[in-house]
Amino acid sequence: MNRFSLFFIALLFLFMLNPLQSHSSNHNSASDLNPAFTIYDNIQSNNINVSDSLVWDRPRFNEREQEREYLVQTGIIGQGITDPNVIDAMLQVPRHKFIPEEYQRQAYLNIPLPIGHDQTVSQPYIVALMAEMLEIKPGDKVLEIGTGSGYHAAVLSELTPYIYTIEIVEPLGLRAAKLYDDLGYHTIETRIGDGYNGWEEHAPFDKIIVTAAADNIPQPLIDQLGPGGIIAIPVGGQDQTQVLTRLIKDKEGNLRTERVLPVRFVPLTRNNEQ
Ligand code: SAH
Repeated sequence: MNRFSLFFIALLFLFMLNPLQSHSSNHNSASDLNPAFTIYDNIQSNNINVSDSLVWDRPRFNEREQEREYLVQTGIIGQGITDPNVIDAMLQVPRHKFIPEEYQRQAYLNIPLPIGHDQTVSQPYIVALMAEMLEIKPGDKVLEIGTGSGYHAAVLSELTPYIYTIEIVEPLGLRAAKLYDDLGYHTIETRIGDGYNGWEEHAPFDKIIVTAAADNIPQPLIDQLGPGGIIAIPVGGQDQTQVLTRLIKDKEGNLRTERVLPVRFVPLTRNNEQ
């Protein structure tokens, strides 16, 4: 090797070293040297913030947590509910707060319980199943007919901040509205009245849930369901087998129903004055 080729190799070596060094300094101060990279970075974190920015009041309770966990393991996951958001909602909402004093001990059994005025709060499994049937995404606007104890709407309020619920029995509706205030479920709007006619001012809804059984799916509710929406409702009279039914309105407005499970619910009553 002559002197010239040695010099050439040394030059090549220096040249190779330099880009490596400038790459590492680029990495340390990307914002100075490569603004395009930094802007892209910001957009990415903004996007994450956009989806995360739908944050709303979801009160948390430690009381009777172990009973909730046992119920969810055995009666919710154990019976086939798989939607992780629904499972989490069932873990969070303190059912015992919605149950009358005399049934406190049974609050975390997987059974329906009396709530006064001849009404009942559904079995937790059915609450979870109906929530899962609705496929609720954060941001969905949901209407519930039959507030009752207020428990079911509280579970739904874990899934999206836009919950509207109507109760026909005034003392029940008032009690639930007060409970929401006391417990911190501030995203639920409660109304006293006949839910058969829906809630026109807030329509269209993405999802509608009816927690009392009707012979037919009320037409006003179908009309107030937006395209791509879902209704979950028990269909059938008090002397018949009721079937938990899912009605899906596709993007073109076509309706399709699915029969999901035989059930027993209190009847959807009508308010003749309205
Ligand atoms: N979702 C309730 C279940 C309550 S049972 C809960 O979590 O506890 C069904 C409720 O539907 C009862 O409170 C009953 O009074 C109410 N209801 C019956 N017919 C109704 C109607 N037409 N409009 C609104 N609520 C009605």
